[in-house]
Order: sequence, then C-alpha cells, then structure tokens
Amino acid sequence: MNRYYLLLLILAIVSCKQGSQDMHELQEDTSDDVIVYEEYMGEEPTEPEQTEIYEPVPPVVDPFGNNGVPSDAIVLFDGSNFDNWEMAKDSSEVVWHLNDDGSMTVKDKAGDIQTKQKFGDVQLHIEWRSPAEIQRDGQNRGNSGIFLAGLYEVQVLDNNDNDTYVNGQVASIYKQHVPLAKASVPTGEWNTYDIIYHAPEFNSEGGKTKSGTITVIHNGVLVQDHVEIKGAMTYIGWPKNPPHGKGPLKLQDHGDNSRVSFRNIWIREL
Ligand code: MG
Repeated sequence: MNRYYLLLLILAIVSCKQGSQDMHELQEDTSDDVIVYEEYMGEEPTEPEQTEIYEPVPPVVDPFGNNGVPSDAIVLFDGSNFDNWEMAKDSSEVVWHLNDDGSMTVKDKAGDIQTKQKFGDVQLHIEWRSPAEIQRDGQNRGNSGIFLAGLYEVQVLDNNDNDTYVNGQVASIYKQHVPLAKASVPTGEWNTYDIIYHAPEFNSEGGKTKSGTITVIHNGVLVQDHVEIKGAMTYIGWPKNPPHGKGPLKLQDHGDNSRVSFRNIWIREL
C-alpha cells in the first residue's frame, strides 16, 4: 500500500514539474512577440494636452458632395454612359446594355467588361441586382462577379433558395473564402457591396512577399473580414500568384444569360 502512495506522489511531482516547465516554455516562446509601443515608453504624461496631436490634418471629404457620392471618389458608372469602361478581351467599346433607370446589364456572351483606369488599394462601392424572374439553379442563377485588379473575384450570385458550394456562394471570395453570412436582399432587388482591397506585393523576382486582403460589407453586413487573398481566382486548380501592379476593376459575363445588372459604382484610391 505504501508503495502505491509513493508511486502516486512521484507521478504528481513529475506532472507538476512538467507543468511548470510548459509554463516556462510558453513565457519564453511569447516574450519576443509582446507588443510594445515605443512612443509610450517615456515619462507618463500628467496633462491631457501632452497626448493631443494636431497634425497632419486629415483631408475633408464631403460624403455626398460628388453627386451623392464622396467628394474624393472616382465615379466609374453613374448610369449615363460607359466612358470609363471597355471590353476586357480587346479593349473595344462596351456592348453591354445601358438601361433607362441608371443601370447596366450584362450582355450575354459578350464577355467581361473592365475599367480603363487601373487601381491599387481601393475602397469600392457597387450595387447589383439579379433578375426577378428565376432561371436555372446553383452557379447558373444570376451569376456575375467583381474582380479586384482583374484577378480576385467577389462572387455575385442569386443565392436565395438556391444552395451551392459555400466557397462559391454570394459574397464569397470565389473558391478561397466562405462569407461570414448570407446577407442578400430578395431576388430582383438591389444589393450593395462595399469592398476594401489591399493589393499583394511582389519582389523583383516575381515572388509574392505580402498577401493582398479583401473586406466585403454586403448590404451593411460584414461578410469578409480582411481576408487573405491566396491568389488569382481559378475555376479549376489552385490559385496562382502572377506578379502584378495596378489592375482594372472587372465585371463578369458568366455566359449563361445571367442578366445581372449594376449601378452606382464609385471607387476611392487608398
Ligand atoms: Mg461569378
């Protein structure tokens, strides 16, 4: 019996030692990662004025000053013309439908369109609508897409009562990130996307040294929270990382008479 208790005691001591060793290792592992703000390491301020900053002064932006959009935004589409756009395949004139209500609609099998201007980091506002009349299922119902830098797709899809693979559903970063929620309005009504894109960085050999990120707010709901871009959108295969600089904003013709419409597109360079 005494031997039994002795064994238990030894086991307890060993386990305690192991525990304290683990704790020690944990502290050692994390000590280098502790965040220290060097600007706050001096003598502790005692007056409120000592921690007030007056410059640089942020620029003033009138949130509705540019015909209802932020005064420093570039209006890419206001419903009046396709002046800022071209066909993606050959830079020819846009042949998508320009509608009377200030929107545009994909022209089936005409191909993608893209902005003439190229962009790096941006904040983008865009509104889209799937046709009210239901056609087909899955990926073939109201499918389009918004490609940042012409490469990274934020999915547009009529996903209402229409399930599909979740990394290809509405507001997914196509085949890379499932959205945090499905926040679509009823089919046939206008959705808004507010997107923040930070471009990836590449070294002189073309290797990616910093991933890009995308944030998407769908009808006011955060659905992509600063997610890491793994590479260019691919339908089949792994995402690849061709080096690139600024790129156009591209809108997708899915090629199956999706009849998706867009309106009120503006962008702010960051
Ligand atoms: Mg798509």
